[in-house]
Amino acid sequence: MEDTLIVNNVRKTYGEVEAVKGISFSVKEGEVFGLIGPNGSGKTTTLRMISTLLRLTGGSITVCGHDVSGDSDAVRKVISYLPEDAGAYRGLTGRAYLKFMAGFFADGEEFERMVSKGIELADLGDRIDSKIDTYSKGMARRLLIARAVMPSPRIAIMDEVTSGLDVINAYETREIIKNITKGGVTVLLSSHNMFEVDMLCDRIAMINEGRIVLTGAPEDLKKEYNAANLEEVFVKAVKG
Ligand code: ATP
Repeated sequence: MEDTLIVNNVRKTYGEVEAVKGISFSVKEGEVFGLIGPNGSGKTTTLRMISTLLRLTGGSITVCGHDVSGDSDAVRKVISYLPEDAGAYRGLTGRAYLKFMAGFFADGEEFERMVSKGIELADLGDRIDSKIDTYSKGMARRLLIARAVMPSPRIAIMDEVTSGLDVINAYETREIIKNITKGGVTVLLSSHNMFEVDMLCDRIAMINEGRIVLTGAPEDLKKEYNAANLEEVFVKAVKG
């Protein structure tokens, strides 16, 4: 499988703060790849650099062969980015919101196809015609994921996509994400929930204080570290 994303020795400083200290990893087409680490370890900064929203201080990032610094327009055409604090226009219905957003990407039949796909992905039944401000957090999150995926990006980037959701909603959100990859989309997500990435991701990179400490498939890492779960792997890898 081809590498959809290549992150090579990337650094980011905010004034005096060195948030990302030379990280490298790559993501293959069709994978669910998780960037996992504690609060403040540099996950959001990394996702925002890949999404062309933040300038790199050093290194390079290539998305589907396009360089994020030199060819950011081409990168934006093949990615979607769902920030942790994403919100929808709460006065609109779910359907109206999806139509509004699809209008930025397509018209005519393609527009109709995109909206139908969004409605199917959101899986909100009749509530697609209710106003978003009546949705639970889980319903709103499903709508946002549908919005991010309906234009069929090559890579969907999601920051802490299940944070704040209860068990059932987090489970359903994870199921949606697994289904997205069946449609050929590559998923890159961040999480500080080790249990979640273990269930969801084909491969992960563990990040700590701006550095990648480990990369691999959850099963392989657990075997290598003789650990019952990824939390234990992380602690053993960080503490040495
Ligand atoms: P969380 O899980 O809490 O979202 P994170 O792993 O996504 O954390 P980042 O948000 O990327 O981490 O932050 C990495 C480091 O960079 C932290 O020390 C943070 O305080 C710092 N940082 C992030 N954004 C800025 C900014 N705009 N200005 C200055 N420092 C920043």
